[in-house]
Amino acid sequence: MSSLRFNAINNLAHHANPYPVKSAGKIADIFNENVFTLKTARHYLSDEAYKSLLASTRGGKKIDRAMGNNIANGMKAWAEEKGVTHFTHWFQPLTGLSAEKHDSFFTLKGDGTPIQEFEGAALIQQEPDASSFPSGGLRATFEARGYTAWDPSSPAFIMETGEGKTLCIPTIFVSYTGESLDTKTPLIKAAVALDKAAVEVCQYFDKNVSKVNATLGWEQEYFVVDAGLATARPDLLLTGRTIFGHAPAKGQQLEDHYFGAIPERIYAFMRDFENESYRLGIPLRTRHNEVAPAQFECAPIFEEMNIAVDHNTLLMDIMTRVAKRHNLLVLLHEKPFAGINGSGKHNNWSMSTDTGVNLLAPGKTPKTNLMFLTFFVNSIKAVHDYAELIRASIASAGNDHRLGANEAPPAIISIFIGKYLTDVLNQVEKRVGGNFDEQDEAMLKLDIHKSIPELMLDNTDRNRTSPFAFTGNKFEFRAVGSSANCAGPMTVLNTIMAETLKNFKTEVDGLIEKGEKKEIAIMQVIQKYIVESKKVLFEGDGYSEEWEKEAEKRGLPNIKTTPVSLDAYSAAKAKKLFEDHHIYTHLELEARHEIMLEAYIKKVQIEARVMGDLATTLIIPAALKYQNVLVENIKGLKEAGLPETAFSSQKAILTKLSEHIGTISTHVAAMIEARKQANDIADTRAKAIAYCEEVKGKHFDEIRYHADKLELVVADELWPLPKYRELLFLR
Ligand code: ADP
Ligand code: MG
Repeated sequence: MSSLRFNAINNLAHHANPYPVKSAGKIADIFNENVFTLKTARHYLSDEAYKSLLASTRGGKKIDRAMGNNIANGMKAWAEEKGVTHFTHWFQPLTGLSAEKHDSFFTLKGDGTPIQEFEGAALIQQEPDASSFPSGGLRATFEARGYTAWDPSSPAFIMETGEGKTLCIPTIFVSYTGESLDTKTPLIKAAVALDKAAVEVCQYFDKNVSKVNATLGWEQEYFVVDAGLATARPDLLLTGRTIFGHAPAKGQQLEDHYFGAIPERIYAFMRDFENESYRLGIPLRTRHNEVAPAQFECAPIFEEMNIAVDHNTLLMDIMTRVAKRHNLLVLLHEKPFAGINGSGKHNNWSMSTDTGVNLLAPGKTPKTNLMFLTFFVNSIKAVHDYAELIRASIASAGNDHRLGANEAPPAIISIFIGKYLTDVLNQVEKRVGGNFDEQDEAMLKLDIHKSIPELMLDNTDRNRTSPFAFTGNKFEFRAVGSSANCAGPMTVLNTIMAETLKNFKTEVDGLIEKGEKKEIAIMQVIQKYIVESKKVLFEGDGYSEEWEKEAEKRGLPNIKTTPVSLDAYSAAKAKKLFEDHHIYTHLELEARHEIMLEAYIKKVQIEARVMGDLATTLIIPAALKYQNVLVENIKGLKEAGLPETAFSSQKAILTKLSEHIGTISTHVAAMIEARKQANDIADTRAKAIAYCEEVKGKHFDEIRYHADKLELVVADELWPLPKYRELLFLR
């Protein structure tokens, strides 16, 4: 293994030239090249078929069989011109990844004549044998059928893998009995719920609004390491993170990486995956170095939420694939390196109307300001009321390393809104008894629109430690993990917003019925919501210990681990919420809860195995080898007649080595025992907690501590695993 390490270093030293990436020319020229956009559809479809596609894309209208055939034919013609041979339904099962099963256009007629064919039925629905995807018990294995159904709101695209080209049809994935088995179905349902509730509230302000879309702009953080070096790190390959590794002498303390010049090899990789992304219609805009060495970020222009989620999933696939060409490995894990910043995926979220208004952007007139204030305060209320669910929506084994540590948004869900808006809310709150008389209508004329943009948009009034921050015209949900599928947190966020807006409308209508003026009624409910939810607002340092104490005093939940935080999904409150908005039935929700717990168990289980394995077969043997070297050395010195003092340091090192080896062995044995006991637990939640507390909690840090100490003592030439300094700085 140490030879693998040194070979990789040697390779890097001698030929780490960047993989050549040709310039793609103007981005606008290649953008959407591999997407069956409506514009492309216009060329390939009859008027009738085009109209039908348009109606289903924009208005969710069903496409009938005959029209399906027409559309499929048009898509096929377009795809074949581009050299496509196969098609696939592309979906996002509950593994959190994307899935595809390819079929060729090629088929044989009854008489054996070969033809190319793509029927409407194959476009609209497929039945992959999908018994191996997680279903949380929703689908017994004997009833393996799962259906994928076309989602016309997300356009078909061509995926290029080497010379191979496949037409991908974005689909949802449901069981035979209609339960959702993917991340996308609930997301779409949440979008519908939000649309309905938000449009009704918009009607107070503008009768022309007939549709509200949630918008999402994600920021994807990631690490990149040399693939050669990674080959010598089984932990990276199997778990996505380094389970061992001592902090390097130089880490991120010099702060010299953030926004620094992008290394050439990485730059080539970025351009390569960006070009593929542009062809697929992913509107990437930003790229830069992140805080940690070897950490980077990219972000697109925001899009309608459903498309944005698909694009993020697609991007993660593309990055992973393209990296291979460059002999690089992309790490999307939330915490690939201990002691070095982790990676998140900020979800910038807002809502926009079909009249072109961003509902979280302060308005230009008092009336639109009131609309802004309404949606702004409803967002705060939603997060306040469902903080546990928000926390659960970002829970994963990987993200546990970020939340709870002092570098990423904490596990306490709070909201940062900045000084100016804090003042605004304070003023609204102070109106005693909610009596907004005519004179108080001055309130409605607050010139928010003039002051906020300057204050918020110039970046000065920002707080990077908040998990949920208002940044001028959108909320930035920062606690989402870098490897997450955005659909989970977005489903929750949009559903709780729908629920809050729905209640808001009921309350306002109630007051209006009692004879209150509309604007006054709205202000009164806004005031009530501010009072009810202000404890979730926090402007200070979210990483500090004081905040933990303060949050506890305020009664805000602070749930540090995944297995416990997931309880929010099975709570009666969540069941009611999701059922009321037709997102999940109780059964579906329980299945999801089960799947998330199982995913957690498996992740920790694999890490525990890798840890035990590497400790026993790589790290301890390296230490033993070095012990032998020392023993030989001492023997030789003794034979040469040298006094004790000549080898007392060697003896001290021997003793240290033995101590570390001993502790590691003891803990590995105990960890294996703990795993066995955990495996015997029938209840999934209890089992996940056992993995969290008994397997991980009692042993991971201990084993790692002593192994990392060994790394500092054992001769470098004997050490098998590429060190942090190599993984983070060699490229
Ligand atoms: P940063 O937060 O790093 O300063 P920006 O504020 O420019 O960066 O934007 C970050 C992300 O937020 C981008 O993807 C951007 O498109 C997105 N964004 C901007 N406006 C909205 C909006 N109204 N809805 C959703 N996302 C948005
Ligand atoms: Mg941001």
